Amino acid sequence: MTVTMKGSEVAAAMKERLQREVAELRAQGVAPKAAIVRVGARPDDLAYERGAMKRLESVGIACQVFEFPETIGQKEFEAGFKAVNDDPEIHGILLFRPLPRHLDEEAVKRMIDPLKDIDSMSAPNIAKIFSGDETGYAPCTAEAVVHVLDHYGIEVQGRRVTVIGRSMVVGKPLTMLLIKRNATVTVCHTRTKDLPATCRSAEILVAAAGKAKMVTGDFVSDGAVVIDVGINVDDDGKLCGDVDYDAVAAKASHITPVPGGVGAVTSSVLADHVVRAARYLQGNA
Ligand code: NAD
Repeated sequence: MTVTMKGSEVAAAMKERLQREVAELRAQGVAPKAAIVRVGARPDDLAYERGAMKRLESVGIACQVFEFPETIGQKEFEAGFKAVNDDPEIHGILLFRPLPRHLDEEAVKRMIDPLKDIDSMSAPNIAKIFSGDETGYAPCTAEAVVHVLDHYGIEVQGRRVTVIGRSMVVGKPLTMLLIKRNATVTVCHTRTKDLPATCRSAEILVAAAGKAKMVTGDFVSDGAVVIDVGINVDDDGKLCGDVDYDAVAAKASHITPVPGGVGAVTSSVLADHVVRAARYLQGNA
């Protein structure tokens, strides 16, 4: 029977651990706190913000939103960002990106304290992921995939894993996290020839392409583990992943649903990074 890997189960297990860790920090006089920095008010940012705040607060992490007007100039935004970055009570910063086009995002990536860079936008953090140094913070979604695999006891060492997608947010960092765990990883993208055949050879398939239901039954061999990172809207206006769920679930041994899969774990990873940041900044990592 196919196992549905539920993000809520992974998040519940992480919550217990995080609550314990936050309590330990508080006992040492440290109150973990995150800042969400948002320019403008895009509906998808607001939706993620609500979910992230709820998750952070549920484990005892304080969260403050710093909202800047969409029309803010570079100098003014950098001054505002610097104030958040320099605030000793703030341990982790999540900046919603992309910034409006008139703002220089690269300059902000250079400004952020790497110890507070809980969503992995600074070069030092990215370098750590690519060099296998686990003291950095991986992008939350990429790391959420690893938590899902771990929670359901799926070993990756020595196994053939195919990742569809090579973005800096999901595909590439996830590939590095999997290599660190000794998986044999194939990365597919828009120029990959015969994508279904490449995917069929995988024991574990991760879809992070952002194309509604593109992974059909033809992409999956019997008994494969399938993780769907995609968040898309189908022709009927319903939320769906990159995987054609019913057709693929009929073949897979394990599969994540959308919604309710990887996406439900992302904000727990964010909370985990705030806890780690609070430890680093206190010098007791
Ligand atoms: P992206 O557009 O930056 O990258 C998509 C990648 O997929 C590219 O590398 C591209 O080469 C590849 N790709 C696209 N179409 C393809 C095709 N037909 N065949 C093969 N490869 C193809 O997207 P992203 O930011 O990496 O996000 C990917 C998906 O994950 C999106 O649906 C996004 O909404 C979702 N996402 C989910 C979460 C979450 O919390 N669950 C977080 C971030 C992104």
